[in-house]
Amino acid sequence: MNLENLKKELIEYGRLAGVKNFTPGYSGNFSARFEDKILITSSGSSNGYLSEEDLVLMDFNGNPVEGNKKPSSEKMLHVEFYKQREDVNYIIHVHSPYLSSFACCHIPLDEPIMAENVFYFGQIPLAEYGLPGSFDLVEKTSKYFKDYNAVLMANHGFIVGDKTIKDAFLKLELAESYAQVVLNTKLMGGAVLFTQKKVDEINSLKKK
Ligand SMILES: [Zn+2]
Repeated sequence: MNLENLKKELIEYGRLAGVKNFTPGYSGNFSARFEDKILITSSGSSNGYLSEEDLVLMDFNGNPVEGNKKPSSEKMLHVEFYKQREDVNYIIHVHSPYLSSFACCHIPLDEPIMAENVFYFGQIPLAEYGLPGSFDLVEKTSKYFKDYNAVLMANHGFIVGDKTIKDAFLKLELAESYAQVVLNTKLMGGAVLFTQKKVDEINSLKKK
């Protein structure tokens, strides 16, 4: 894919995330792998209202190579995700309300209660808090990237990476809705959990 089309994808999916209230205000950042570089939203941009000028091409050290804006302050978190996972081409980081609620209460989404979520996520772990934009945050969050595509970030938000922008976005949509369901189940007295046998049955569907 050429750079122009990559920019169009980030703008379009950023807009959709805005429409769905997944990325309020100035929060969050989007990126895409482009050859040996990364296209990322600039510092201070709003994912729901992106234009081409809000996207910066940078190298794997976080240095901009095109455009005159500063890459997002979470740029090294994106770099680390791409470094660890060759299968990941797009990353979405957001402060969506339901996922962020779990992140703020330090509650991982790890109870097997819906087949789709067991199938796609297994669980969504919670990474310890690190100051936004810090190396500490990169270290604490990135240790989950080897085993998970989606991670809650304590007192902060959520990050997901995938092969295509559509897959990353749909995983975000699924996770945010899952967080809403889990919250509802807690209000309603608690969900009935799957037994391990049922979890194994769901996971066996992956091989078909
Ligand atoms: Zn953030």
